[in-house]
Amino acid sequence: MVGPQVVIVGAGVVGAALADELSARGWNDITLVDQGPLPEPGGSSSHAPGLVFQTSGSKTMAELARYTVEKLCSLDVAGEPCFLQVGGLEVATSPARVAELHRRAAWATAWGIEARVVDTDECLRLVPMLDRDRVLAGLHVPTDGLAKAVRAVQAQVERAASRGVRVLERTEVLDIRTEDGKVSAVVTSAGELQLLQQAVRAIHVDPQMQRYIVHIVGLTRDHPDVYLGASPRGSLALMRAAQARAMLAGRDYVTPDDVKALATAALAHRLIMSPEARMRNATAQAVIRGVLQEVPVPGSRVPA
Ligand SMILES: Cc1cc2nc3c(=O)[nH]c(=O)nc-3n(C[C@H](O)[C@H](O)[C@H](O)COP(=O)(O)OP(=O)(O)OC[C@H]3O[C@@H](n4cnc5c(N)ncnc54)[C@H](O)[C@@H]3O)c2cc1C
Repeated sequence: MVGPQVVIVGAGVVGAALADELSARGWNDITLVDQGPLPEPGGSSSHAPGLVFQTSGSKTMAELARYTVEKLCSLDVAGEPCFLQVGGLEVATSPARVAELHRRAAWATAWGIEARVVDTDECLRLVPMLDRDRVLAGLHVPTDGLAKAVRAVQAQVERAASRGVRVLERTEVLDIRTEDGKVSAVVTSAGELQLLQQAVRAIHVDPQMQRYIVHIVGLTRDHPDVYLGASPRGSLALMRAAQARAMLAGRDYVTPDDVKALATAALAHRLIMSPEARMRNATAQAVIRGVLQEVPVPGSRVPA
């Protein structure tokens, strides 16, 4: 039995990032499961204030933190930022701690993170509520800040879903079965993921509907704004997504509306726009909207 390649249990900030990163690298059979409602399923990420200090003695951890900061700075949810880059200040109240701050500044600088040890006056300028009589120095890292964890989860889950990651919320993982030392099934409160996948595949797709999907995907390859269109794998992804939508709606057959509702999510990330189109800010989403207008819906004589 062939099941999902990757099942990510937990859509906190770590699971959401993993789904985003794997899907960005071309993994295409990923299921993200959380027992809670998204984007605030109730784990640590739903409660954390989200302070991010990038400096670490470990180069790997510092690079991961820096990568995360850069990524979250590039994301937003409806125009609201996922990261507030207010800067970080670690203060020293003993000479030994001042020496430690200098060590940390050296690590940060060596790992490519801007950092400097500042005197008491500068610490108070940055954070006026500090006690001048106790603070001897501070380590200031201007690119540190606050991650807005719930938004970071939402932005990354939505981006992963647009690349075809299946997202199951309010679904608890109850068991992970193994055979010969390998994971064979993930049992959830909604059933075994393999069984769900089989149920999706059993949803009827009329040959007319298959041709409709192939026609849509084919036109993405002929579009003048597109350098490289969606491949037959795109057709398959769109068909499976439409089958899943039909199943969630309680139908055992796919309709044109299932296909139209998911065409952008299933295909847009597969298109590589031509340089000229990119110069005009033409988007893959717009190409797919245009294609959907052009392709006649099965059973009708006029385009959708
Ligand atoms: C009060 C508080 C303050 C914090 N402050 C900071 C801070 O300032 N800076 C910082 O870096 N870190 C901070 N942390 C830590 C940080 O929030 C966590 O390290 C981080 O959120 C962990 O993310 P995660 O995705 O691993 O876990 P979580 O966000 O806990 O996600 C795990 C997910 O798994 C789901 N899950 C669990 N079991 C199952 C199951 N059987 N089936 C399906 N789903 C399941 C849960 O519903 C949950 O959504 C803080 C944490 C707390 C609680």
